[in-house]
This record gives sequence, C-alpha cells and structure tokens, in this order.
Amino acid sequence: MTPSDHPALATVAVTAGRPDRAPGAPVNPGVVLSSTYVSQGPPRPDEAMYTRYDAPTWHPFEAALGELEGGLPALVLGSGMAAVAAAFSLVPAGSRVVVPRHAYQVTLVLARDLAERAGLDVVPVDVADTDAVRAALPGAALLWVESPTNPMLEVADVPALVAAAHDAGALVAVDNTFATPLGQRPLTWGADVVVHSVTKALAGHSDVVLGAVVTRDPALRERLAAYRTTHGAIAGPWEVWLALRGLRTLALRVERAQHNAGVLAERLAAHPDVVEVRYPGLPGDPGHERAARLLTGFGSIVGVRPRGGAAAADAVVAAVRLWVPATSLGGVESMLERRRRFATESPTVPEDLLRLSVGIEDVEDLWRDLDRALRAAGA
Ligand SMILES: *Cc1c(COP(=O)(O)O)cnc(C)c1O
Repeated sequence: MTPSDHPALATVAVTAGRPDRAPGAPVNPGVVLSSTYVSQGPPRPDEAMYTRYDAPTWHPFEAALGELEGGLPALVLGSGMAAVAAAFSLVPAGSRVVVPRHAYQVTLVLARDLAERAGLDVVPVDVADTDAVRAALPGAALLWVESPTNPMLEVADVPALVAAAHDAGALVAVDNTFATPLGQRPLTWGADVVVHSVTKALAGHSDVVLGAVVTRDPALRERLAAYRTTHGAIAGPWEVWLALRGLRTLALRVERAQHNAGVLAERLAAHPDVVEVRYPGLPGDPGHERAARLLTGFGSIVGVRPRGGAAAADAVVAAVRLWVPATSLGGVESMLERRRRFATESPTVPEDLLRLSVGIEDVEDLWRDLDRALRAAGA
C-alpha cells in the first residue's frame, strides 16, 4: 500500500500495528511478559530496558490508535483517568484551566483536587456555548473539551474552540471517548492532545480498564511519556493486547451500535412514558445541527428522562432484563444507569436522567425490553 492510497479508518482499525509480513510470521502481535530486558552500558533510544519506561506489547496498539486519530503513535496508560491526569500535568501549578461544566465526573473531581493541591484556577463553562468559552479563555493555559459531553450529550464547536484557545495561548485537550476517532478527529482540527478512556468503545467488550493520549507534537508526546514513567501510570500487557483485539472490530461495532441508538432514540421520543430524550441524532436536539456538521455519526449514547422522576428512572433500571444495569459505556452489551445516583455527578444533570449505552444486540430485542420497563415504571 502506498501513502497515497489513504485507507479508510475502518481499514486502518483492522490493519495498523500488524507485525511485518514475512513467511511464517504471526499475523497478530504477541504478548511479552517481562518486566526487564537484557541491557548493559548506555541504553540505545529504541532499546527495551524496563517495562515502566516502555514495553513492546504497547506498540501495536499505540501505532493503531495514533494512526486512527491522525497523530504520532499514541501513549497507552493504565486507565482513562491516568490519561486525563497526564494531560492535566501539561500545565504548571496555578494555571487557569477552562473545563466543561458537564464532563466525565471524575475528570471534574480531579480538576477540583488540582485546584486545591496545585492552585489551578478551574473555570467551568457550557462547552456548547462558544461565546461563553471564548469569554473564559483569556489567561487560560488549558481548555479541556468533551464533545459530546458525558452525560448531557451537548455538542461543542470543537474547531472554533481550538482556534479561540490558540488565540488565547491555551493548549486544547479533547476527551474523545464518546465520539471515537471514527466520529471526529480533534487533532485534524488543531487540538493539541486527544484523551481516551480505552475502557469504552475502543476496547469495546467491558473487559479491560485502559487509557491513552495522542498528540501530533513530539515535544508534548515526550512530556506525556515522562509523566507516564515517573507517575507509574502504565498499562499491563494483557490489557493492551485485549484492547487491540477489540479495536479491530471498532468500525463494525460503532456502526451497529449507532444504528441501534438512532432507532431507539426516535422511538423513545414518541413514548408516552418519556419526558425528554437527549440524542444529537434527533432533529429537535440542541446539538443536532452541529453534530451533523462536525461528526460522522451521532454516537451510541442516549439520555432519557422517564415520566415520574428519579423514582421512575430507578424503576426502569430495576425492570430491564436484557439491558445491563451498570456504569460504563461503549461495550457490545447495552447498559443503563441513573447518573445522579452518584453524589459526584453535576447537580445540573437532571435527577431522572438515564444514560443509555446502546450495544450491538438486535434492536427489536432492546426496544421490547426498554418499552416494557418504561411502561411498568410509568404505570
Ligand atoms: C470512563 C470515562 C473516563 C475515565 O476512564 P477510565 O478508563 O474509567 O479511567 C474519562 N472520560 C470519559 C468521557 C469517560 O467516559
């Protein structure tokens, strides 16, 4: 394949990071279980030495995710939160940091912790309100973006925010967990760092916890790698191998889950026991126009507020049989939870909001189960 062939991302997900083709060579990379490597004298830069610094089993996954995001090889870390913490480490103590008011809740917990311990001036904004973000940027060292946001599914104008942040001299980090690189590629819009909870759609089978950061800037990559080494935020080889195995089917899974989510969102919006549906794919959704312009698909996460408040939402979670009542998202299995069951969830997230992570099961089976649970809860 020549560089001008520009393989589609679905192809990249299958082919990137394969071992070199040679007669008798394995098609898939192996797992190297070794904490240390034979080494003496001054180590060469590409020489494996000790697994907290670098490990061969990380490389194929890092190559694949880097290529999918349009960046340098990614850096894999022990969890999505390790990746979030690595990106926050790029700004000095006392920096002004602009964050979405709705974002992954532990990201906001970390930001508050850094405000206390490192004097970060954390400014929460509505990331869907581009003017509000612009107004918060003067003096900022970092703009943190999630889009669509967890769990409200607000859609940010990421290219406009990147331009505004760079005008203000701020770095831009985008948590691309919800959209995946198949939905949007923030580095191609100029973002400095992309962060992933690989735990979710990239690995896709609810069997590993893993994170990654991606950048196009070699100096930033070096600083992020140094953070990983000194903070010990490394991933185990089995987890990375499983994540690469999951990544191979990313396009198929995202396509199916997204289709299912679209069908369910439309039916839920017409359901007598539903007050509100949040899904960027619905024409009436506040994020619809922007999502249609910026994203290649509307994703597999749906927000639903059943009639009857938080008690009814809890009753729906208790009544489903096929859907799994659990936190997390992006797995092959459909899951749901009431987000405000967590004390750390933002108080501006409605008490009755159910976050649905739509999987790849048959959509009619998913609908029957959900419809029955909603009717039982609303009765
Ligand atoms: C789950 C999640 C994280 C944290 O990832 P872990 O792998 O659980 O540490 C960060 N951001 C978003 C958007 C997430 O959904």
